[in-house]
Amino acid sequence: MFFAVSSDSQPRKLIIAVDGPAGAGKSTIASRLARKLGYINLESGAMYRALALKAIEWDVSFDDELALFKLAEGSSIQLQPNLGGNRVLLDKKDVTQRVRERDVTEGASRVSVHPKVRQWMVSHQRELGKDGGIVMEGRDIGTKVFPDADVKIFLDADPVVREQRRMQQQKLRGEVAETSAAELRDRDHRDRTRATSPLEPASDALVLDSTSMSEDEVLRRVEGLVQQKLET
Ligand code: C5P
Repeated sequence: MFFAVSSDSQPRKLIIAVDGPAGAGKSTIASRLARKLGYINLESGAMYRALALKAIEWDVSFDDELALFKLAEGSSIQLQPNLGGNRVLLDKKDVTQRVRERDVTEGASRVSVHPKVRQWMVSHQRELGKDGGIVMEGRDIGTKVFPDADVKIFLDADPVVREQRRMQQQKLRGEVAETSAAELRDRDHRDRTRATSPLEPASDALVLDSTSMSEDEVLRRVEGLVQQKLET
């Protein structure tokens, strides 16, 4: 049970960053944590996915940074937190299922390497989280989006385990086109080696290797950290 009161008797609303590679268990932990705290959970990756989908629909190359930036500026991308993850609206149209398909997954990984695209995303993500009471998951939340986040978690796991988890998650979500292990590794490599905001733990993040931890164990560790913050 979480409980904290600030000096003006209003509950303190933290900003919690959950970063890490695909398949490390971020989504599950972030959504369970958000539910427990009564916070909202935002999947920042869904915004990159929405832009990639728009690029596909508008026939814009994933390599054309300026065109992608302009496309983003002319788009409305909304995330609506739900029990099973975020509902994604692109220009008011529900694209929740579509953005999980293979071509979009690949596109999201490619559009996200561009500094201008990231700049646009980061400013929108900051706006979404500015009032706190939020668990935001992604790759650069603790390093770039909210470098002053109250709690930073970097969740990692052995690549083989992550691949298995990702496949399992895709099955559960009923996704048609499955991402192969090789594609997952490519995406990881791109995220970790890109010049702008590469995937890496913030220096003050709690790094958890969940390879041999259960979901409940991970959640307990994270809750412990949150509780400490709420008590300070
Ligand atoms: O988390 P998800 O798999 O939905 O993210 C899709 C892609 O968006 C990732 O492969 C990554 O390249 C990119 N991404 C990012 N920064 C974030 C979230 C996602 O670069 N904060």
